Amino acid sequence: MKPRPYLQIPGPTNIPETVLSELSKPPINHRGKEFEDIVEKCLNDLKEVFKTRNDVLLFPSSGSGVLESAVVNLFSPDDKVITSCIGVFSERMNTICEKFGLKTIKIKKVWGEAITPDDIEKILLEDVDKEIKGVFIPHNETTTGVTCDIDGISKVIKKLFHPALLIVDAISSLGCLPLETDMWDIDVVISASQKGLMLPPGLGVVSLNDKAWAMYEISTLSKWYWDYKMVKEKLLSFQMPYTPPTNLLFGLKESLSLLLEEELENVWNRHRLMASSVRAAIKALGLELLANEDISSDTVTAVLLPESISYSRLSSVLKEQYNITIGGGLSNLQGKIFRIGHMGSIHHLDICAIISGLEMALYELGHEFELGAGVREVQKTFLKIY
Ligand SMILES: *Cc1c(COP(=O)(O)O)cnc(C)c1O
Repeated sequence: MKPRPYLQIPGPTNIPETVLSELSKPPINHRGKEFEDIVEKCLNDLKEVFKTRNDVLLFPSSGSGVLESAVVNLFSPDDKVITSCIGVFSERMNTICEKFGLKTIKIKKVWGEAITPDDIEKILLEDVDKEIKGVFIPHNETTTGVTCDIDGISKVIKKLFHPALLIVDAISSLGCLPLETDMWDIDVVISASQKGLMLPPGLGVVSLNDKAWAMYEISTLSKWYWDYKMVKEKLLSFQMPYTPPTNLLFGLKESLSLLLEEELENVWNRHRLMASSVRAAIKALGLELLANEDISSDTVTAVLLPESISYSRLSSVLKEQYNITIGGGLSNLQGKIFRIGHMGSIHHLDICAIISGLEMALYELGHEFELGAGVREVQKTFLKIY
C-alpha cells in the first residue's frame, strides 16, 4: 500500500475530505433557487475572506484569466502602468499588459527579491503629471517564495496622492497570508481556487472598489467574457452570464466555511508557523534558502539544490518512496531550486512528515547532515522551544 499523497507543489494544493465530497455531488440546475443560494453564500463568505465590503466577482477560469480580466476591464491602450519582473508570475502580468497595448514601466530585480514601497515611491515621484494609471504587484511571487509589502506600497500611493489603481495578484496568498483588502485600501485583488482556497483549479475571483469601477467606465479595451459589469449584474440574482462550474461552487462553499470556522487570523498564524518551521528545518539540514527571511513567503519555500543533487533525482525519490510531490524551479531557476508548497489544507504533523521524507530522500542521495535535525526543528517550532 502506498502512503497517502502529499501534494506539496505550490498549487494545486491538498483538498480537505469534506470539500472533496461536496465536489463529487451530482450537478444541479445552475438557473435554479438551490444553486442561487449556494452562490449567494459563496459571495458573502468570499467578502469575509477578502476582508472587503467591495464587489467580489467569480469567473470559470484559471488565475491567469482573471489577471487578464483586470487589464481588459480597467485600462485602455497606451495607459502607463507599473509592472515588475521578480519571477514568472509578475513577468506574466507584465506580458499581459503589453499584449493589450499598455505602456509598462517594469521593475526588474534579481529573482528572490521583493518589490518594496521604496521602489514604487521612486517611480511615482518621477511621475509629476500623474500619468501612471495602475500599479500591478504580486502579493506573493510563487516562483521564488517572496512576499511583497502590499500595505506599505498602498500607503506610498496614498501619501503621494497618486491616482493610480493598486492591483494585487493574491493568487498564492488569499486565505493563507494576512491580506486586508479594505484596511489596506487595495483597489483590485485577484485570486483563484487551487491554492489557499483548497479547491481544484478552474475558478477565478476578483474584488474591486468604486475607484476601479470608475476606471471600468472609461476603459476602451474590448471585453465580453470578462466584462465586469455584465458579470456583476448577473450576480445580483446569483447567476452567471454563462454556465458556471457548479461543482466547484459546491466545493467553494465548503472550503470558505472551513476557513471562516478556523477564523482567518488563526489560518494566517498556522501558515506563519508552518513556514517558519520549514525554514528552520531547511537550515538545520545544511541547505540554503533562496530568499532572505524577512521577505520569505509563508506559503511556499524555495530551497537551493545542493550541487551534488539534481532536482529530478530528489523529486523522483520523494514521489516514488514517500508519495510526496514537490515543485521545481521555473524558467531561469529550473534545476537550481526546489520548492515546497505549504498552503491550504495542511497542518503541523504534515510538515513533520514532509520534512521527514525530505531528510530520508536527501540521506539516500548522499547529502551529509544529521538525520532528524530537520524534524527536530519542526517539533521545536510548534512546541515553541527556541
Ligand atoms: C499560480 C499563480 C498564478 C497563475 O495561476 P493559474 O491558475 O495557473 O493561471 C499567477 N500568479 C501567482 C502569484 C500564482 O501563484
